[in-house]
Amino acid sequence: MTDILSMTPDELTAFVRSIGEKDFRAKQLYQWMQKGAQLYEMTNLPASMREKLEKEAEYRLPKIEAKYVSKIDGTVKYLFSLIDGECVESVFMRYEHGNSLCVSSQAGCRMGCRFCASTLNGKTRDLTASEILGQVIMAQRDTGERVGGVVMMGIGEPLDNYDNAIRFLRLVSHPDGLNIGLRHISLSTCGLVDKIDRLSEENLPITLSISLHASDNETRSALMPVNNKYPLEKLLAACRRYFDKTGRRVSFEYTLIAGKNDSLPQADALAALLKSGMHAVCHVNLILLNEVAETGLSTVGRKNAEAFRDRLEKRGINATIRRRLGSDIDASCGQLRLRHAKANS
Ligand code: SAH
Repeated sequence: MTDILSMTPDELTAFVRSIGEKDFRAKQLYQWMQKGAQLYEMTNLPASMREKLEKEAEYRLPKIEAKYVSKIDGTVKYLFSLIDGECVESVFMRYEHGNSLCVSSQAGCRMGCRFCASTLNGKTRDLTASEILGQVIMAQRDTGERVGGVVMMGIGEPLDNYDNAIRFLRLVSHPDGLNIGLRHISLSTCGLVDKIDRLSEENLPITLSISLHASDNETRSALMPVNNKYPLEKLLAACRRYFDKTGRRVSFEYTLIAGKNDSLPQADALAALLKSGMHAVCHVNLILLNEVAETGLSTVGRKNAEAFRDRLEKRGINATIRRRLGSDIDASCGQLRLRHAKANS
């Protein structure tokens, strides 16, 4: 079956031709799909064409399995189920400059980061481009509001599902489609160096976010097994190449974990690393750990985070503490999927 929602307008035109329909029908179909319409709702398409699509095309949108709305800030968390019953999460966030959606790229994750809920049961499968796009379409349809930005920071490692992630980026930013500006899209990775190099060649002006979480190899390898394959020297060199190639400032995520990576000497080491590796052309996003019971790791207090930030700033590194949205609805990713899987086992 042909997954029509994963197609670009040109590919869809070729497909529509192949089932004996006129080119302009592709445009109509494309517009409907971007709105999340069901086939029977596509009333300007002939019934005979809809029947052909029913038989020859696969067109499925994620289904809202559960939805939680934060009473504090209006953040909406979705648990979506996919065609085979796999579940993923998306988070709809409201900011002054517009709405943003955090999307998942895989069902589960095989990267094994010690602090992360998404990886506890490993990876089940990659999502298709249409399954990633479908999260954006459904969030827009459900909220009735425009999504102006996307962060690929949900469940999964986007660069471990490279082709589908790239296809998603091209689809979601397509001028005839949702038309979300690439400059309003961030992709977060645990640091797959070979894929970062490939990404730098794609001519996609997105923001690359690196999950760093440590400034020395010993600490980072203990938290993130991927560091054994791609240690800090290699990772920073790839980030520098990415910046040189694209001119896009790289952003680094650093989740503060009590007693592991939160000391002031570690802030000094982080500043030194980013100065030598990136000439300080970067931004550090400090994140307060979202505690996941299974990991036994604890968060630091707000005061410690501020001290860590001030230390980085003092050393010439731009840093902010990420605002926590949806704290009353368990909005960080992976926890909902995990609970859902447990409840159904
Ligand atoms: N696989 C990608 C994207 C998904 S994770 C990556 O590793 O970047 C998105 C961000 O949340 C990453 O920076 C990740 O390290 C961080 N994260 C994961 N679990 C967390 C937790 N329990 N508390 C705080 N941040 C967490």
